[in-house]
Amino acid sequence: MGEAEHPLQAYLDALYLKYKPLSEGKLASYIPELAKADPDCFSICIVTVDGQIFEVGNADQLFTIQSISKVFVYGMALAEHGREKVLSKVGVEPTGDPFNSIIRLDEYSKRPDNPMVNAGAIATTSLIQGTDPTDRLNRMLDMFRNYIGHDVYIDMSVFMSERSTGHRNRAMAHLMRHFGMIDANIDEALDLYFQQCSLMVNCCDLAVMAATLANKGVNPITGDRAVPSHCIRDILSVMYTCGMYNYAGQWAYQVGIPAKSGVSGGILAVIPNQVGIAVFSPPLDANGNSVRGIKVCEDLSHQFELHMFDLPMGCSHFLQTLENKP
Ligand code: GLU
Repeated sequence: MGEAEHPLQAYLDALYLKYKPLSEGKLASYIPELAKADPDCFSICIVTVDGQIFEVGNADQLFTIQSISKVFVYGMALAEHGREKVLSKVGVEPTGDPFNSIIRLDEYSKRPDNPMVNAGAIATTSLIQGTDPTDRLNRMLDMFRNYIGHDVYIDMSVFMSERSTGHRNRAMAHLMRHFGMIDANIDEALDLYFQQCSLMVNCCDLAVMAATLANKGVNPITGDRAVPSHCIRDILSVMYTCGMYNYAGQWAYQVGIPAKSGVSGGILAVIPNQVGIAVFSPPLDANGNSVRGIKVCEDLSHQFELHMFDLPMGCSHFLQTLENKP
């Protein structure tokens, strides 16, 4: 007789069937290669901090990570330079403007508002250290490998597609160079940014990456550290306030989980000290978030009471905090 199915697996199977028929949303097309995605592709994966994996749908289907990479490169910059240096180049304010907006940069701030919009992500990427472009790329791939737990690759056709069409990103980079927010060679920094966005992952990889953040920076499957634990709070804070494009405020209100979305249709969400969640489904809503992804996360948040302000009752931790400090 086979083992009984875990209740979480049964719940995910039902959630998948509930949203599989949803046909709303459009594929991103401003990066020509992304318009070739299969709109029916749909997968959900949850990885616990003790390394259990629950998945449903085409969880092996590869796609490019896109904006979700911004979270991890931000962590790498924090680890390499410390919070103060990174804050001097990239802020932590939500914008309410589109992810690829250039206006605020020129008119108001000079410094990009946060590392989850394109300007901030390009500035963050320009901080990555290395002796030359190959060394910087290899160091970045090593970082991603530690989060994912196996070798990683870049989709060359998406990289070339972004590289040849990303004129707005190029314009932002030049403006930031003008304002002294980027010191590095612009073309090299942009190449590295386009490469990080073209990293190939599947839904399960994303959930392991999320679980690594939930597990204070240690990959729960391999036991390898991917980022110092002191960087986790800063990373999750900007995910919470800025991770879901122009839906970030409503997301914080309704779903209440640190998360990051990308134009290829992935959403990665972190429940600190518990689990990492990933959903992949390419059709996007008007804010640029995966339609099925938003629905799945809303259901999970309500069902499992995951909103950050639904903390369990009790004051013992609060009262003991000072006692435990020297
Ligand atoms: N590579 C994309 C860009 O720079 C990332 C956008 C996204 O996923 O939000 O336009």
